[in-house]
Amino acid sequence: MIKINENYLNLKENYLFAETAGRINAFQKANPDKKVIKMGIGDVTLPLCKAVTDAMTEAVAEMSEKESFRGYGPEQGYEFLQSAIADYYAGFGVKLENNEIFVSDGAKSDLGNILDILSKDNKVLIPDPVYPVYVDTNIMDGREIIFADANEENCFLPMPDYDKDADIIYLCSPNNPTGAAYSRDQLAEWVKYAKAKNAVILFDSAYECFIVDDNLPRSIFTVPGAKECAIEFCSLSKTAGFTGTRCGYTVVPQELEVSGVKLNKLWLRRQTTKFNGVSYIVQRGAQAVFSEEGQKQIKENIGYYRKNAEIITTALDELGIFYTGGKNSPYIWLKCPDGADSWDFFDFLLKEANVAGTPGAGFGENGKNYFRLTAFSTHENTAEAMERLKAALKK
Ligand code: PLP
Repeated sequence: MIKINENYLNLKENYLFAETAGRINAFQKANPDKKVIKMGIGDVTLPLCKAVTDAMTEAVAEMSEKESFRGYGPEQGYEFLQSAIADYYAGFGVKLENNEIFVSDGAKSDLGNILDILSKDNKVLIPDPVYPVYVDTNIMDGREIIFADANEENCFLPMPDYDKDADIIYLCSPNNPTGAAYSRDQLAEWVKYAKAKNAVILFDSAYECFIVDDNLPRSIFTVPGAKECAIEFCSLSKTAGFTGTRCGYTVVPQELEVSGVKLNKLWLRRQTTKFNGVSYIVQRGAQAVFSEEGQKQIKENIGYYRKNAEIITTALDELGIFYTGGKNSPYIWLKCPDGADSWDFFDFLLKEANVAGTPGAGFGENGKNYFRLTAFSTHENTAEAMERLKAALKK
């Protein structure tokens, strides 16, 4: 008789965004004259830049001609895009071979799919709070999960605890939801720990483009020795507004071996078996992101979001509220005033300021008294939301 994967029954209901949307809708219905400003969205709002859409338009034209039409491409991505990504990494001092770069439809798929090549017997270490995908994908496989506590004391950047053993370690920097970013020395500590435990680090750099501090690492591979113990996941979603266009990349170094087996070889086998590549049109658009013009244009968009982050952090500084993020990240993670529960603060802010954010509880136990605001709104709405927040808290 057919059996289901019963691990799915162990997943908690994914109610965070449904619940926040439900509460916002109910409030809006009861108060049709009030304008709610949404500061909880984790999605970009600015359109694709011209360099990208021009490249995609050209690719569409190629696809319409018999001579230049393309069918299936290489599962791991076209060489033109791998080379563009390799050049980008070279820009911050990381040398990659094209065969270490795997192009995909985004980081979320790769973060989930990578578990195909890692045993279900592995013990997993995940920071709390964090992007919920790491926890859920491991619950689906039935792996044992332990947590690394991120809190005010460590500025939401937990460091290794040698008393805890782990085989798979997730790190996300700059972090979603906390916006906190590890220094190179801190990442070096994690690399040392991973090597001591014969573990592999799954490093999520989806927000690397928001780093402004040149001393902060944009890639774990800027840490010596990391290629022997880490896989890096990145995405054009937040870098270039590809959330709806879909393109990301995963770097599996040739140096990375587990029990004498190259993970690069396993991942290639996995991808060539289960994945048929990203659309040619999208890959041409992605290539344009890394062009000189593309980089200039995406930086304008990122700069726009950064200004919003600054508006938020300036308001929080004025209010004397503890927060992380906002400087090298589009996320601002604030401590709910008076030790409030994050859902209570959500309701308070919605009712008193007509501003919606995301309760920290949705990202883990350590988020229950924290709140995430995002920089993906407009300048005008962000500024108004902060004025309303200040007025509500001063009441
Ligand atoms: N990693 C983190 C930390 C994210 O916050 C997100 C999206 O919000 C992703 C990965 C997923 O990115 P993609 O759109 O490439 O699947």
